[in-house]
Amino acid sequence: MASGSTGLHLDLTTLLFISLLVTVTTGAMFVLDAVRRGDVRSGRWWSLAFGAATLASFTYIAAAQSPALAWAYVVGNGLAGTATALIWVGARSFNGRPPLAAVGVAGPWLMAGGTLLSTPSFDAWSGAVSFLLVVAAYALVAAHEFWRANGTRLLNHVVLAVACAASGLFYAARATALVLLGQDDPVFLSVFGPEVAATVVLLLIVILTFSLVALGKEQSDIALYRLATRDALTDVLNRREFARQAELILRRLAFERAPVAVLLLDLDFFKTINDTHGHAAGDLVLAHFAAAAAHCLRPSDLLCRYGGEEFAVVLPRVSLDQAEIVAERMRAAAAALAVPAARSEVRLTTSIGLAFSATSAADLSALLQRADTMLYRAKAEGRNRVIISAVEPEAAAAAA
Ligand code: GH3
Ligand code: MG
Ligand code: MG
Repeated sequence: MASGSTGLHLDLTTLLFISLLVTVTTGAMFVLDAVRRGDVRSGRWWSLAFGAATLASFTYIAAAQSPALAWAYVVGNGLAGTATALIWVGARSFNGRPPLAAVGVAGPWLMAGGTLLSTPSFDAWSGAVSFLLVVAAYALVAAHEFWRANGTRLLNHVVLAVACAASGLFYAARATALVLLGQDDPVFLSVFGPEVAATVVLLLIVILTFSLVALGKEQSDIALYRLATRDALTDVLNRREFARQAELILRRLAFERAPVAVLLLDLDFFKTINDTHGHAAGDLVLAHFAAAAAHCLRPSDLLCRYGGEEFAVVLPRVSLDQAEIVAERMRAAAAALAVPAARSEVRLTTSIGLAFSATSAADLSALLQRADTMLYRAKAEGRNRVIISAVEPEAAAAAA
């Protein structure tokens, strides 16, 4: 390093101009995507953030044109701070919380207003420390908001949290270095100088745009997947998804020669429940029953609404005894339910047919067929009971 000329040597005006172009194009891409998805909540705040960032770029370029316009740096800082704050506001809105837009916008403009009123003569560094601290604060709270993610933390929540936290820390470090070293210190200029900062912001804008678009898409993919795979009334798997998952599980179990049990459940006298208490009460009974049935199962078991008031279950890797215990538990759970209705509580029972296979040699439809035959017998023998088929036709045929 003989020349001592390490670090970036980029022309600041060019960088600001590239920043402007990138902000406008990625911002337009973001707005189009938000409009296409009909995201009127967080999309609106993040679109405004891109608008504020675009205006900030314009203002910085204008401020650099003449010393007489140097006060515009402070206005640019207010706009850049607003853009950061609106990222946080949008993240709150995305998480379904009150956006607190007034708090977001007040911070940067109190800072900018204070600087404009208290500074006798302006340059590019007027009010820089308070500006950097305000941006750092909003970036860090935005990082926290993305990280908390209102329940399910998606991949892009993490990307956005890390990007916001990293830029918040960069701005805080820049403020500290500015106070300790001063704006003309060579170390400050090579690590935290305007060119480095502009490059970091450029990178951040690109990461933010792609991740914000991807976050919206990730969330709507999950919502669509739920819609496509779950029953709307009971929120258990629908029949199509049950068949898909059950066939995958059965293939693996057959390969391992591991046991499986398939259950069919049919609520008893459900038509009478509808006729007595009304269809809405019948719906409520179905939802309560599905929740109670799901409560009896392990996470690796499958439960689906097979049709009207019929449910199907797959219990992978269970012994016959365990399967019988689970079926009995589900029967007892139904009998213990008292679903609130307009006139009185609704009581219910369920009949259950259970087909067991020690080696999972049979396919899903054969197992369901056997379970259905047992269910028919459970109905014929008086309902509110579990009937089991443990003898596999394939095994019986092989033994003969
Ligand atoms: P069994 O003990 O023999 O099973 O008698 P059941 O009355 O339960 O049998 P049936 O199959 O005759 O009646 C099923 C009823 O379930 C008929 C249908 O109207 C009702 N049903 C199906 N889907 C729904 C639903 O989504 N909501 C409500 N409320 N009722 C439903
Ligand atoms: Mg039925
Ligand atoms: Mg029934």
